[in-house]
Formats: sequence, structure tokens, C-alpha cells
Amino acid sequence: MKHERPTVAVVGSINTDLVIEVPRMPAPGETLVGRRVMFYPGGKGANQAVAAAKLGADVSLFGKVGDDPFGERLREGLRESGVGVRGVETERGIPSGLASIWVAEAGDNAIALAAGANGRVDCRFIERHLDRIAGADVLLVQLEIPIESVGLLLRKLPSARPLVILDPAPARNLSGLPLSRIDTITPNESELAIVGGGEDIEAGAQRLLDAGAASVVCTLGPAGAVRFSVEGPPQRFSAPEVRVVDTTAAGDAFNGALAWALPTQSVEDAIRFAVAAGALATTERGAQPSLPRRDEVDALLSAHAHREERGTPRRPRRN
Ligand code: ADP
Repeated sequence: MKHERPTVAVVGSINTDLVIEVPRMPAPGETLVGRRVMFYPGGKGANQAVAAAKLGADVSLFGKVGDDPFGERLREGLRESGVGVRGVETERGIPSGLASIWVAEAGDNAIALAAGANGRVDCRFIERHLDRIAGADVLLVQLEIPIESVGLLLRKLPSARPLVILDPAPARNLSGLPLSRIDTITPNESELAIVGGGEDIEAGAQRLLDAGAASVVCTLGPAGAVRFSVEGPPQRFSAPEVRVVDTTAAGDAFNGALAWALPTQSVEDAIRFAVAAGALATTERGAQPSLPRRDEVDALLSAHAHREERGTPRRPRRN
């Protein structure tokens, strides 16, 4: 089957993840010798851009890096992953975004994040790039850049295009955003508790729908995802069973895949595709290296003729 190649604009963060493996969490004031240090490209904006590009979308990333060696490396890595970087600016005198991550032997971790240049993705930046962003089929945006910039962007977009997906992470109060310009909000369960409030998922999602969002797709880790919309009752999508190695970037894989799939498939098929992409991202270590290719997602989808939880078997897929 021939698919057209959707254009996806991602406006968001670009970070380096600096990971040190430690025997245990250091106590305040303590110096602890770690075992290994690793540098990975990261940031939700960059990860989701790479996720959509690996699936075959025509992706442009809009964001900022600093004028340090990390910035050049991040830009080069994005280009090698097939992401358009004309919208990636270098901010003078500011470091690139950095996440300092300790991973202890027992598996727990602690993260300190410095926004660096991501914090300078301001309203003037949005104005400079608005025309190109507005020309995409899909806009994918997260909250690792100033929320005022996200608000301005949503208000300035034309009403018909692009389709907007908001990953509300890290979770914050969304009351300053015009939710009626958003087609799909994609929180995980803990984010939904913050952005939607309410005592359970249904109440939280309903609040976002009442505030104007057209649909809410809440990701549920191994339980897949559930979609709430103004059109009808909630729809559940189970995740295929996989051997989980590292859940980092499962949500980024989900969002990138949704952006790739929504313009060319039914909403239901697009969410099934995104759920499978999220599941595959848990089967390998790291963020960007674990993001799946299109053939891998298609193979997992057809291997698992998985059932939606309301009990109807899925129709077999044609290859
Ligand atoms: P986040 O990474 O943002 O916290 P989730 O943990 O909900 O988000 O994961 C996003 C998606 O990745 C889920 O909707 C699901 O499709 C997939 N996923 C995550 N964890 C697993 C798992 N253990 N098994 C199968 N799929 C998973």
C-alpha cells in the first residue's frame, strides 16, 4: 500500500543526557565513584522528531542549542537521523540543554535537568519560524520549552492546519493554552493527574475535553492507551507483549509514531501503530537508539493480532 509522506513539525527541546552509573544514590555532600559515563542525545522534542523521521515522515525540528561542543554534536546527530535542522538555532553565550542522570545498580535513578538554550525558545523565535511550522501536516509539541511560547504558537496557527498533538510533559497547568486548537493531548497517567486533575483518568480527560481539546489519548505503559473524545465512548488499545529492557523514550516513540500515522490512517489505526511503536522502544536500551523503524512496527502489529479490550478481535492486516 502506498502512503504519502506526511510533513511533521516538532517544536521542542534538544538535550544531551549525561548518564553516570553509580553503585547507589550519593548522599548529600558525598562524592561517589561511578562506574561508567555515557553521553546520549535526548530531549523530548529531539527524540520525538527522530521517532517520526525513523518511521519515514518528513520532519523539521524547531528549537535551540547552545554555542558549546554539545550543540554542534546534537545538531549533527539529528541531521544523521534524517531530521531537518534548518529550524534549530544556536543561542550565543548559553549552554545546550543538559540532563545529568544517575542510574543506580538497583535500577532507580535521579535526574537534574538544566534547560539551557531550550529556555530561550521564546515568542520571537516562534514568530520567526511560524510560516514553516504552519505549513506542516502535523505539529508535535511538548512542554520542555517555555509554555508562553507554546501558547503563542497555538494562537497564531491557522485554524485548518496543521493537526496539533500536545505531549504535556513535563506536566504543568495548561490553563494558559488554547486547548481548542489541539486535536490530541497525550499524557501518561501521572501527567493526566496533574494536567486534568480529577480523581481518575476519566475525570481528568473529561476536564481537558470540557476545556476544548478534541481528544485525549492517555498512555498506560504495558496496558497500552485509552482514547477519550467528544465523539463517543472511551476506546481502549492494548499493547502487544514485549520483552522490556528499558522504558526510556516509550512515550517519545508513541508521540512520534502518532504524528507520522494520524494524517494517513484512521485515528484507531494510528493509535494502534503508536502503541506498538511505544512497546518496541522498551525492548532496547537508551532513547534515540531504541526508536523503531516502520517495518519493525508493522511486523509487531501483524504478529500480534491483539485485541482491543472491549473484546472484538482485530481484523487480520494485509501486508
Ligand atoms: P511514558 O513513557 O511517557 O511514561 P508510557 O509508559 O505510558 O509513557 O508508555 C508509552 C507507550 O509505550 C504505551 O502506551 C505503550 O504503548 C508502550 N509501552 C510502555 N511500556 C510498555 C510495556 N511494558 N509493554 C508494552 N508496551 C509498553
